[in-house]
Amino acid sequence: MNRLDEIQRAFQSRGGTSFLLGLLLLAVIPSCGDSGRHTYQKSRAMMDTFVTMTVISESRQQSETAIQAAFNSIEEFGCLINFFSATSELSQINKNAGVREVRVSPAAFDLIEKALYVADKSAGAFDPTIGPVMRLWDFHNGVRPPDADIKKNLPLVNYRDVVINKKNSGVFLRKKGMLLDLGGIAKGYAADLAVGALKQHGITAGIVAVGGDVRTFGLRADGTAWNVGIKNPRQTGAKDEIMGTIRLTDKAISTSGDYERYFISDGRRFHHILDPQTGYPSDRARSVSIIARDGVFTDGFDTAVFVLGPRRGLDLIKEINRDFEVDAIIIDVNGVIYETDRVKETIKDAKNL
Ligand code: ADP
Ligand code: MG
Repeated sequence: MNRLDEIQRAFQSRGGTSFLLGLLLLAVIPSCGDSGRHTYQKSRAMMDTFVTMTVISESRQQSETAIQAAFNSIEEFGCLINFFSATSELSQINKNAGVREVRVSPAAFDLIEKALYVADKSAGAFDPTIGPVMRLWDFHNGVRPPDADIKKNLPLVNYRDVVINKKNSGVFLRKKGMLLDLGGIAKGYAADLAVGALKQHGITAGIVAVGGDVRTFGLRADGTAWNVGIKNPRQTGAKDEIMGTIRLTDKAISTSGDYERYFISDGRRFHHILDPQTGYPSDRARSVSIIARDGVFTDGFDTAVFVLGPRRGLDLIKEINRDFEVDAIIIDVNGVIYETDRVKETIKDAKNL
């Protein structure tokens, strides 16, 4: 069994859900456009998920070189911020919590700085210091931590206790026992890095999916925008059932859902997006998709809005829309769909959603 199969099986055994986190790419079968531009696609297991790169190019060789460079950029970045690898820069930061500042690479520093921006804007609904509580939960084996353990660790969760020093790329966690966990934002950043690498190699159109974090640029070979499907968070039968599709170009989209890593206990769903106020899974939404230019922000804010729920989530979207164009599709805990005006008017497929 190859690594892709292995990961897919592991994910399916986590709850019988499909692999792409809420998003499915449509119509990426190699095709030939009017201008002789072709579609090339490659997938690899990375960052504990599938990464799929699709590019439009006139040259097979150019596309292969570019895709390889883009995979390399994700690989390198993944090594820096891997929570479980003892040698990652993230682990160095965590090991030195309460002890000293750690100097990190520009990409890791940039990601942490942006994670703190999302934390600040969302008043801690997204909190990258969720680590001490996150690690108590075992969604794979369906184990719920004792309440007392959650209570004991909650005081360590506070993004305001992360001190960053731009001058020397230093990061310091103020309290011993604090743990940075960048799982809620890193995949979107990886999609941004990959698109940067593809563009550097002369690619002018493509789509990169790092699990459920997808970034698009340029147009497909037939001159139309990219279609991205949004998965129904409660599958009614067919696997990978889609609620609707939206058309995007030069935009990223990320989805957070309660259906990817979860277990059911006493009739209640326990999933991997925690409310930093309580240390328990947030119960205000089933799925949140965010659309904006950069994957780092769509990924960060999908988690934030998921925790906040539709009412406060849409308020937050309105507020950050002053900084940059951002849209949202929120499915609340009762299955009611909320979406921003631009989604209604311009970017969704008419037949659905
Ligand atoms: P996915 O990883 O399924 O794409 P998310 O982007 O929502 O979904 O990220 C979920 C991950 O984010 C969790 O596995 C955990 O590492 C981290 N996380 C969970 N809750 C929070 C939170 N409130 N703030 C920041 N990160 C979180
Ligand atoms: Mg996220």
